Amino acid sequence: MHLNSLTCHELVEMIKAQTVTAEEVVEHVFRRISEVEGKINAFISTFNESALDKAREIDEKIRRGESVGLLAGIPVAVKDNICTRGKLTTCGSKMLSNYIPPYNATVIEKIEAAGGIIIGKTNMDEFAMGNSTETSFFGCTRNPWDITRVPGGSSGGSAAALASDETILALGSDTGGSVRCPASFCSVVGLKPTYGLVSRYGLVSYANSLEQIGPMAKDVLDCAMLFTVIAGHDPRDGTSVPRRPCDYTKALNDEIKGVKVGVLKEFFAVGLDERVEKSVLNAVGILEDLGATCDGASISYLEYAVPTYYLIAMSEASSNLARFDGLRYGFTAKCEGDWNEVFSTTRGEGFGGEVKRRVLLGTFALSAGYYDRYYLKALKVRTLIKREFEKALSKFDVLVAPTMPILPFKIGEVIDDPLAMYMMDIDTVPVNLAGVPSISVPCGFVDGLPVGLQVIGGFFDEEMVLKVAYAFQEHTKFNLKKPEI
Ligand code: GLN
Repeated sequence: MHLNSLTCHELVEMIKAQTVTAEEVVEHVFRRISEVEGKINAFISTFNESALDKAREIDEKIRRGESVGLLAGIPVAVKDNICTRGKLTTCGSKMLSNYIPPYNATVIEKIEAAGGIIIGKTNMDEFAMGNSTETSFFGCTRNPWDITRVPGGSSGGSAAALASDETILALGSDTGGSVRCPASFCSVVGLKPTYGLVSRYGLVSYANSLEQIGPMAKDVLDCAMLFTVIAGHDPRDGTSVPRRPCDYTKALNDEIKGVKVGVLKEFFAVGLDERVEKSVLNAVGILEDLGATCDGASISYLEYAVPTYYLIAMSEASSNLARFDGLRYGFTAKCEGDWNEVFSTTRGEGFGGEVKRRVLLGTFALSAGYYDRYYLKALKVRTLIKREFEKALSKFDVLVAPTMPILPFKIGEVIDDPLAMYMMDIDTVPVNLAGVPSISVPCGFVDGLPVGLQVIGGFFDEEMVLKVAYAFQEHTKFNLKKPEI
């Protein structure tokens, strides 16, 4: 049996019952990684030795009859912008290509406390800026469903690793869609939690008011398991919200009779690939068959979501990335001269083109005279969009839409057209502006390429979002289809 192709909930049972060992599971995963990485390039680094040591420790505990956590012995791949103590954390950038953090992100501590095993760090767009994983300093990740195409981004490595069975669970981060977009393009499940529900301590900031670390998995139950482990208040993150711990797996049943589903009209407008539209409308029909009541819902100002998002994201990026100055973290350019010279040469050589574009535009939007005209205006529009979601979610339990308006595209096809790339975020960024939770769940295939359904919920209503996604999955089983790789 190929243990690496099973799910977390299946494996945890087997490991606890001692029908397989955690060590065997980790071995299978690393064997698979060595088989397919030449084609996929999902990982920037892997931790074979420490992962096997951890697995043996877990097996020993089980043999001694000690209690083990919810993720006992389960391999977890982590996006490379989440700090891991003593282990390279590059953000997909030359700037941090030699950076080894002295501390763990809170999510890493929580996963390890629950018995999860960190097996490696996954490829990503540089500093999480992008939706194709093509801007990584470590080369593009390829989509397991068609290796001439992108896996989505920026958490493309995590999604591709799941789809090709190189891991059991994964973490991504979602600033404007980076968990949901690659989940959709690779036919896996990815959740963007309510802002404040998962600690950002140890996540290298890109646009801190928008982003959350999110669980990614092969099915909704696994996603709920990982989410249960990583969610919760953290005093080390000033934006973390105190809430009672919750077991999100309890919310999952396939009973969604009477659930009110709003179908977001504006998300089915220009720019949506007809074939994607058909799959998503078909998914809406299935939710109706399951007893949900589906009606049209509306979010005004959608046409301003992308410009608003990019103004805010770039402004925050220009400020957050100022810390990479050649003195504190990672790469320092070899050059003589004063601080100014070292600073600009290091940043000139250390950052890629997309990062520089955003730092420049963000600095411009925040500069005296333009601050009111651009940045402040964007904050006001953000509030309007947030109110639109609150209004729609007072009438419906969840809102549904396509995750991405298009199918996975060819590597190199869009990378030279940044505006076209930004426009693809039209269906994901409004959710980050509002701060509400949203999941992408596989909802079909067009010519062998995956399509994702997005289910958006009210603040802190992840239980409802997961429940609807689970009912849909249990009825359709798109999650069981695997790419030939
Ligand atoms: N594509 C969006 C961007 O480039 C979202 C990225 C993300 O969620 N990290 O900003």
